[in-house]
Amino acid sequence: MGIESVNDIIVGIDLGTTNSEVAIFENGQTRVLTDQQGERILPSFVGITDAGALLVGRPALNQYVANPERTIKSIKRRMGEATRISLGKNSYSPSEISAMILRQLRDTAEAALGQPVRKAVITVPAYFSDAQRQATREAGEIAGLEVMRIINEPTAAALAYEAGHRGSRRVLVYDLGGGTFDVSVVRIEDDVVEVVSSHGNNHLGGDDFDQKIVAHLLDHLKQQGVQVPTTSSAMARIIRCAEAAKRQLSDHVEVQIDEEYLLEYKGRPVHLSLELSRRDYEEMIQPYIDETMAAVHTALNGANMTVAAIDEILLVGGSTRTPMVRERLQEVFGLIPRGEIDPDLCVAMGAAIHAGVMGGSKAAAVLVDVTPYTFGIGVVGMLDGDIRPGVLSPIIRKNTSVPVSRSEIYMTMIDGQERVGIDVYQGEHPDVSYDVQIGSFTVEGLSDVPAGNEIVVQFDLNLDGMLQVTAREKSTGLAKQVTIDNAMTQQEGGKRDVSQSRDQVAALFGQSNKRGTEDNRADSGGSAGTPPRIEVQFETDSVAQQAAALVTKARRLLDQATEADRIEIVDLIDAIQSLLEKGDTDSAALQKPCDQLADILFYLET
Ligand code: AMP
Repeated sequence: MGIESVNDIIVGIDLGTTNSEVAIFENGQTRVLTDQQGERILPSFVGITDAGALLVGRPALNQYVANPERTIKSIKRRMGEATRISLGKNSYSPSEISAMILRQLRDTAEAALGQPVRKAVITVPAYFSDAQRQATREAGEIAGLEVMRIINEPTAAALAYEAGHRGSRRVLVYDLGGGTFDVSVVRIEDDVVEVVSSHGNNHLGGDDFDQKIVAHLLDHLKQQGVQVPTTSSAMARIIRCAEAAKRQLSDHVEVQIDEEYLLEYKGRPVHLSLELSRRDYEEMIQPYIDETMAAVHTALNGANMTVAAIDEILLVGGSTRTPMVRERLQEVFGLIPRGEIDPDLCVAMGAAIHAGVMGGSKAAAVLVDVTPYTFGIGVVGMLDGDIRPGVLSPIIRKNTSVPVSRSEIYMTMIDGQERVGIDVYQGEHPDVSYDVQIGSFTVEGLSDVPAGNEIVVQFDLNLDGMLQVTAREKSTGLAKQVTIDNAMTQQEGGKRDVSQSRDQVAALFGQSNKRGTEDNRADSGGSAGTPPRIEVQFETDSVAQQAAALVTKARRLLDQATEADRIEIVDLIDAIQSLLEKGDTDSAALQKPCDQLADILFYLET
C-alpha cells in the first residue's frame, strides 16, 4: 500500500479584500475548489447573526447592508494593525477575523478533496509590510494551516500565465478588484519571478463603480420624490442591482434596471425602472480609471522602465472585465492586455501552481478555452488617419475565454436609412480586406429617422465555436439574427500572407508600414490603440456607399495592378476619400472618380 501522507497536499489560497479562493495543482493542472453550493468564490465577509451564530462568506455579505454593525468586510485592510474589532459580544484581532475566512476555505478544500488539509501557500499584495505578512501567516496558523510560503499576488498571477515558459519577460500586472487596486512590474527570468515595482490605491475598486451607479439610481428615485433609508432592505437591493448592472455593462452596451416593489414610500409602492448605457456609466467611472493609469506610470517609473519595455499586460481582479480598463491599457501600451484566465481566480491558480511546485510537481501553464481569433464587423471608421469603409470593429477579441456574449452599438450614417448590412469578419487586421469574412446579412425596414439611428450588434460565441450574430434597431427592437457554425476554426483564406501587399500598400500611401507587423501589438485603427469610429457600413444605393465599397475593393486589388495603374488608383482613392470626408456625398463630383475607378478595377478583375 502506498504511504503518501495525506497531509502532504498544499493548497493555494488567494486571501482577498473582497473575495477569497482556494485551489490545488493536480495532474499538471490547477483546480479551483468549490463549496457545497458549487461556488468557487468566497466573499471575504464575516458576520454574526442575532442569535450569535458565525457567518462567513455569502450569508455574511447578504446581511451586510441591513446589519453593518454585525458584519465585517475588507478585514485585509486592517491586517498588521494592533487593534481589536468587535463582532457581536466579542472582539477579535484582524488575524483572527482573517482566520475565520481561511478556516472556511480549508473546510471547503477538505470537503472537496475528501481529505484533511494542513498546508497552504497564501498570497498577499506586493506592498504588504513585514508586519502585514506576519499577520497573514498568523491567520493561517490560527486556521490550522501551516503556511508554507507567503507569495506576492502579482507573482502568483504571472505564474498562472507564464509557468512553463522559458526566457525573460517584463510583465505589467494590473489588478483591479472590488476594493483595492495594485499595479506591479514583474520581471521573469525562466523560473525566477521578481516584483520590480508596485504601486496602487488600497481604497479604489469595483465597489466605487457600484457606488456611482447607486448614486445615479438614488438620484433617479429622488427626482420622483423618494428618499431611500440608508440601512434598509431597499438599499441592499439597490446596491445588489447596481453591481449586477455594472457586470452586464461589461458585456453589453446598455442595461435595463428593473426592481419592482422596491419599497413603500409615503403609503405608495415604489418601482425602480430605468435604462443605463455603457457610455453614461463610463463617464461616471472615468476619474477612477484615470487614477489607475496614473499609478501605472508611477509603477513604470519605479521600475525605471518605459511603456515600450513591457512585453505583456496581465489582467487580475474582477473589475478588469470593464471594457474601459482594457481599452485604456491598450491605448497606452499598444498591447492587447491578457485576461483569458479568469481574473477572479488567476491569483489562487498561481498560488496553487507555486504550492504544486513546492510539492514536487512540474510547473505548467493553465489551460483555458479561449477564442484564437478576433471577431468583429466591418464599419466605416478611422484607419491610418483616413475615414474609410472596411475597418474592423472588434466585438469579441482574440484570447477572450469562451463562452462569451458581447455587444456594441453602431449608428446609421444616412437620413432615412432603411437597411443596414452587417459583414462579420474573423481576423486581427484593422483593414477587413485582410481578414476573413465569415458571414453577412441585412436588416431591413429600419425606422425613417435621421442618421444616428442606433443599432446594437451582439455576438454570442459558444464552446463549440458557434457564433450567433444579432443586429437590433435599438428604438424598435427590430432584429435579425444569423448563426455561423465553426467560427473558431481557421477559415479558408485566413492564412493568406498579406505582408507583401501590406508593405506595398503602405509604401504607396507613403505611410509607415510598421503597424500590424508585430503580432501582439494592438492594431485596431487610428493612432495606436484608438478604437475605430463606429458607424456601420450600410448597404444603400447611395453614391456615397458605392464609393466606399469601391475604395475597399480598390485597396484589395491594388497589388495586382501595374505600376502606372497603381498610381492612378491611389489618386482616385484620394480624390474619392476627400469628397467623402467633406460630406460631398451625393454630388455628381463623386460619381466621376467612381466611374473612372470602377473602369480600372473592371479591367484588373478580368
Ligand atoms: P475581486 O476582488 O478580484 O474578486 O473583484 C471583485 C470585483 O469585481 C467586484 O467589484 C465585482 O463587482 C467586480 N466584477 C466582477 N465581475 C465583473 C464584470 N463582469 N464586470 C465588471 N466588474 C466585475
